[in-house]
Amino acid sequence: MEYLSDRIRTMATSATMAMARKSRELKARGLDIISLSLGEPDFNTPAYIREAAKEAIDGNYSKYPPVSGYVDLRDAICKKFRDENGITYTRDQVVVSGGGKHSIINVILSIVNPGDEVIILAPYWVSYYDQILIAGGRPVILETTIENDFKVSLEQLESAITDKTRLVIFNSPSNPTGMVYSRGEQEAIARVIQRHEGVFLMSDEVYEHILFEGEHVSMASFDFIYDRVITVNAVSKAYAMTGWRIGYIGAPKWIADACDKLQGQFTSGVSSIAQRAALAALSGKDGSIQMMRDAFLRRRDLICNQLSGIRGLRVRVPQGAFYVLPDISYYLGKTDGTEIVRTADDLALWLLDRAGVATVGGDAFGAPGYIRISYANSDDLLTEAVRRIKEALEILK
Ligand code: GLU
Repeated sequence: MEYLSDRIRTMATSATMAMARKSRELKARGLDIISLSLGEPDFNTPAYIREAAKEAIDGNYSKYPPVSGYVDLRDAICKKFRDENGITYTRDQVVVSGGGKHSIINVILSIVNPGDEVIILAPYWVSYYDQILIAGGRPVILETTIENDFKVSLEQLESAITDKTRLVIFNSPSNPTGMVYSRGEQEAIARVIQRHEGVFLMSDEVYEHILFEGEHVSMASFDFIYDRVITVNAVSKAYAMTGWRIGYIGAPKWIADACDKLQGQFTSGVSSIAQRAALAALSGKDGSIQMMRDAFLRRRDLICNQLSGIRGLRVRVPQGAFYVLPDISYYLGKTDGTEIVRTADDLALWLLDRAGVATVGGDAFGAPGYIRISYANSDDLLTEAVRRIKEALEILK
């Protein structure tokens, strides 16, 4: 322990992974736990993608792939960016990595120096914060609340930018809020970035296909900041492929080259079989994206309706992704007679213990006073989970 690096000492354990681990352990001990902590589709990977992976095994895709990914996969990603997002990237601007998380840290390590500031919009996805710390950067958090739909104002963004700002991380649809910025709002944010030379914007678009209202707009599709945007995406959420670990970026070539260089020392090219599966996913569609989106929409309505019937909870209906982030501050400071629930993390642990429902406390998302619920689960389990949460919360006085 005394020999652990400062880097490891100062970073936090991923809250989503920690809660997922806890609920797996409790389930393994035979407890009846409903897991709404880890955000991942409950669907299986579509059959045409699984078939492609089997063919890749038999086709001997067993050698090191190129560091940035197979050429045909990167070409398919360029086509996807062009057709779905209106962005032109060439294959040397694309890098395939081990999931969106890996793509994001590659970019941070490539352009953030120790002491540089990185702006993140709270509530933010847990790993942004610690990935910035790993790079020696300084996270600068812009706060939002449920009252303003968890959206930052232009004034907030403008006034947070300093000479030290290198990067702004943007995520719509958002994990953990499910909020979606409009085209106009995004364009205005892009204009702020444009005014500050040397400031880059990483647009995390992994939830683009899980969108219930409005349109998905890619930040790099605004020509005037194209050369300052890094677009991050993954096959994980859209194609129910979280375990395959394939994420990718489209970026200015010098940033893609830097990620290639970094990856060449860290991982080399990522799993050959998973890359072939990702190629199949992006090149052939069978309606699964639409089917899953429809299911998530139905579950959103179901869970939001049910949660809004619980005393003290405030819920903003999300427009995308598969998370809802109720404001639970009414319960902070309350007690079951033995324990006092002081923080959102306390409440998440208390609900795990008392209700057998795993959620994630908002603290690690920069959202104290909220808990994140992933509703990528069956209608029956969601209904049962909310029933248990309601019953448990009635105890808190
Ligand atoms: N993005 C998912 C989540 O937020 C996966 C977990 C993770 O990688 O942190 O639950």
